[in-house]
Amino acid sequence: MSLGEVVLMGIIHPVSRPFYPVLSNDTTGVKSVPRGEIVMLTIDEERFQESFETYSAIGSTNNNGLHRLALTDEDKHVRDQFVADLESLGVDIRIDQIGNIFARRDGQNQDIAPILIGSHLDSQPYGGRYDGQLGVLTALETLRTLEDEGIETKRPIEIVNWTNEEGSRFQHAMLGSAVFIEKTDLSEALDLTDVEGNRLGDELTRIGYAGTDAVEPFDIHAYLELHIEQGPILEEHGNAIGVVDGVFGITWLRATIHGETDHAGPTPMHTRRDAMATAADAISEINRLPNRLSADAVSTVGELRVEPDSINVIPDVVEFTVDLRSYDDDVVAEAIERTEAEIVAACNRHGTTYELEEIWKTRHTEFSPRVRDAIADTAESLDVTYESIVSGAGHDATNVNQAFPAGMFFVPSVDGKTHNEAEYTAWGDCVTGANVYANAILALAGR
Ligand SMILES: [Zn+2]
Repeated sequence: MSLGEVVLMGIIHPVSRPFYPVLSNDTTGVKSVPRGEIVMLTIDEERFQESFETYSAIGSTNNNGLHRLALTDEDKHVRDQFVADLESLGVDIRIDQIGNIFARRDGQNQDIAPILIGSHLDSQPYGGRYDGQLGVLTALETLRTLEDEGIETKRPIEIVNWTNEEGSRFQHAMLGSAVFIEKTDLSEALDLTDVEGNRLGDELTRIGYAGTDAVEPFDIHAYLELHIEQGPILEEHGNAIGVVDGVFGITWLRATIHGETDHAGPTPMHTRRDAMATAADAISEINRLPNRLSADAVSTVGELRVEPDSINVIPDVVEFTVDLRSYDDDVVAEAIERTEAEIVAACNRHGTTYELEEIWKTRHTEFSPRVRDAIADTAESLDVTYESIVSGAGHDATNVNQAFPAGMFFVPSVDGKTHNEAEYTAWGDCVTGANVYANAILALAGR
């Protein structure tokens, strides 16, 4: 659905004394307001698109993608643009020691917890223009729209650009938000290095974004993040918005198979202790596991290391990673058990041994019902089609939700493609998302 259609369906633009519905409040949840009486915020579509194009030009690739890795020159340029845009809104900007950029728009009451809005401006290598960036620009457009309408919300509104969400250059995804909620140590984060040995803390200083503010959580009434779905469901169902119930539980394992090296020629097949043949058997079974476990379970073997890695030598060491996910933590636990059972079976067939190590684990997350209701209610008021959805990917909102009420909603990704240059969301869907976002934020912040 495009904004044009929404307007034609009877949404009245704000007039001199507009009435804004209270869609939710602290204690009693959502109050519905009959449609027809509602005057909703409408973003400036042209300005929103202009910003999207300006930001997309910073680190753009030949195929309409984005190559803007965390704390590179491109990241510096887009941060400079963001800060300049915030300055022209007259909001108070702060940069913390991990480089998260915050800015506060005052509310009527400065002593109550703010609404936090935003996402991330870094991208994957040769990634897309929508992942993260769309969320930040939607948040920026929300502040601009509130300013256009001269609306002073009850609560202050803070906008944020989180540092290093993607985790591709410095391998710790969702880093800025993890340090913010004190899940990851600041010093550990600053000491991360990229493949060339550049230290994260030094790169922050080099691009001028090593801020002085302590990285510490401040009280947040609600955090809301708009993001592209990065999957095919909304497009398949023809819905404009996916209200995210929560995020999958994820476990990462590292398996190491030990066998024996030998010559690829004279060694008969039946005397071999081949670590690669063992891993191959185990991996093909691990890929079949999800079908036997649940409709939503997924398993991925994404890394493989072979010793001695020689064309005519039987490998004696093979190491591989396993990424297991489901919304149901019990399914993930079961998947871990069965993964080990498949490795044991493969080792028994090949006379090899194994080690299995859990390298990272996060339980499934359920987002705040208050935030979810605010999104769903706003979508209904705007006649925007929506459904509940769960996310297989982690986001900054996942981290924030561990400390404060948080929520997310998705807009459709064409063919579900993401983390590559083909990532695409129809512009009408971006605009619809931005209108839902602006109004949900107004509902949460109150008047
Ligand atoms: Zn993202």
